[in-house]
Amino acid sequence: MPDKEQNPRRRVLSGMRPTGKLHLGNYVGALQNWVKLQHTYSCFFFVADWHALTTDYDETSRLADHTLEVVVDFLAAGLDPEKCAIFVQSHVRQHAELHLLFSMITPLGWLERVPTYKEQQLQMPNKDLHMYGFLGYPLLQSADILIYQPDFVPVGEDQAAHIELTREVARRFNQFYKLEGKPVLPEPQILLTPSPKLLGTDKRKMSKSYGNSILLSDEAAVVEEKIKNSVTDRPKLSDRGSPERCPVGNLHQIFSDRERLAYITQGCTQATITCVECKALAVPSVNAHLAPIRERRRDLAQNPGKLQKIIQHGAEKATQAAEETMVAVRQSMGLLQLGSTKDLTMTGTDAPPLRSPESIGNAKTDEERRDIRVATWLERVNKTHPLRKDKREIFITRKGRKVGVHASAEQDRAWNFEFENPPVNVLVLLAEDKDGYLHPYVLPPKFLQKHWQFGGRADSWIRKIDGIAMLSVGAHNESIQEYESDYTALQ
Ligand code: SF4
Repeated sequence: MPDKEQNPRRRVLSGMRPTGKLHLGNYVGALQNWVKLQHTYSCFFFVADWHALTTDYDETSRLADHTLEVVVDFLAAGLDPEKCAIFVQSHVRQHAELHLLFSMITPLGWLERVPTYKEQQLQMPNKDLHMYGFLGYPLLQSADILIYQPDFVPVGEDQAAHIELTREVARRFNQFYKLEGKPVLPEPQILLTPSPKLLGTDKRKMSKSYGNSILLSDEAAVVEEKIKNSVTDRPKLSDRGSPERCPVGNLHQIFSDRERLAYITQGCTQATITCVECKALAVPSVNAHLAPIRERRRDLAQNPGKLQKIIQHGAEKATQAAEETMVAVRQSMGLLQLGSTKDLTMTGTDAPPLRSPESIGNAKTDEERRDIRVATWLERVNKTHPLRKDKREIFITRKGRKVGVHASAEQDRAWNFEFENPPVNVLVLLAEDKDGYLHPYVLPPKFLQKHWQFGGRADSWIRKIDGIAMLSVGAHNESIQEYESDYTALQ
C-alpha cells in the first residue's frame, strides 16, 4: 500500500458503535488503550454508525447525534487527529462496497455460526432481527477491518473470536483473487489489550441501557453523586468486602494511586473503613482523571468548526487508504476500473485496427521486427489487461497466468510461428498482414488444453481460408476466428 510504504509504522484499526456518550467502561475497555497506541502505530479509529443500523434500524432519530457524541468523546479522551485518523464509517463508502463484494464469496454457514448471531436474537426477543443486515454484520466488520490492511486489531480477550472470521474471509478472498500472483488482503493479527474490570454503579456490567454508568462527559458533581449512590460489596459495616466485586473498589483499582488503593483494599477486606469513606476517596481519584478530558471537551464546544474539520479530515484520510485497497480489490476481481472505459474501446473487437509502427521498416533482423510488433500490441493491451514481463516471449497476467506472445508477418497468405518456450496458459499470436495491421489471436487455456500438446519445440501456422483464420498445430486444424482480439483470457 503506498501510504504504508511512506509510513513504515505498523497499522492499527478499531471502531466503536455510536451508543451516544461513552462511559468509563468504554474508556478503560478500549479508548484509553487507543490513546496509547496512537503514539506507536499508524492508527485508524472510527465510529461504526452503519453497525448501529443492524439492530436499531427502526429508530434512527438520534443516530447522527450519537455518532457526533462518540467522536467528541474520542477527542476528549485524548485521541489526536494529527496522530491518527478519526472518522465515521458511513463517510467512507468503500466499506459498503467491500462488504458487498465479500458477500459474494462468504458461505452463509460462516455467518450463521457466529455465536453473537443467536445470542443477540435471544437477548432481544422483542426485536425482529431476521434481517440480512443483522446476519451480515460480521462481514461488514470484516470489510471495516480488511479495507485498511491493518497489521493489528486491538481487542479484549472475549472478542478475539470475532477477528477469526475476518481472517477467514481474507484467506478466502486471497484464494480466489490475486494481483500479480500475490494475495491482496493481508490477514490482521490480534493485539490483545488489557481491559480492567469495571462494574456499573449497581454492580451489574456497566452499560448505558442499565442506567448504571459514569459518563466521560459527567461533570465532577455528577460523578460524586453517582459514586456516593453506588451499591457496594458490604451491606453491613461489619461485613468484610472485596474491591474486586465492588464498583467503587473497581474505580480505585483503575484510578487511585498505589497508596490509596492499598489503604482501601486493607480497609475493605478487614472492615476497618466505612464504604462512605472509601467512596469519598474514590471521587477525587476519578475526577482527577476526568479533569483533562473535560477540559478538551470544553475546548471543542467552543470551536464547533474545529470538530467538523476533524471529521472531514478523518474521512479524507480514511477514504484515501480505503480506496487504495479497493483499487487492488476491484482489479484482482476483474472489475472494470472507472476511468478505463475509454481505454476499453482500445481493445476488444470494437478496437480500431492496430498497425505496426513505420519504424519497423528500419529493423534489421526478424527478431527486432518481432519485438516491435509485440511492443506495439503490449502498449495497447496494457491499458486494460496489464501484463508483466517474465522472460523472453513470456508475460504474466494480473491473476498470474503465463502468456506466451509471438509475432509473425504474412507470407503467401499465411503466418508461421515457432515456439521454443515451455508450456503457457495463454498463447497470443500476433499476425501482421501485408498492410502492416496486427491481428492478435488470444488462445485461452481451454483451447490449448484441447488442441495442443506442448513439448519442446512446436511449429504452427495461421492461414485464412474463406476469410476464416485457421490454426494448424501438428495434425490439428482449428478455426481461431473467435479468439481474434478477445482478451478475456488475459485476466
Ligand atoms: S469499602 Fe470500598 S471497596 Fe469495599 S465495599 Fe465499601 S465501597 Fe466497596
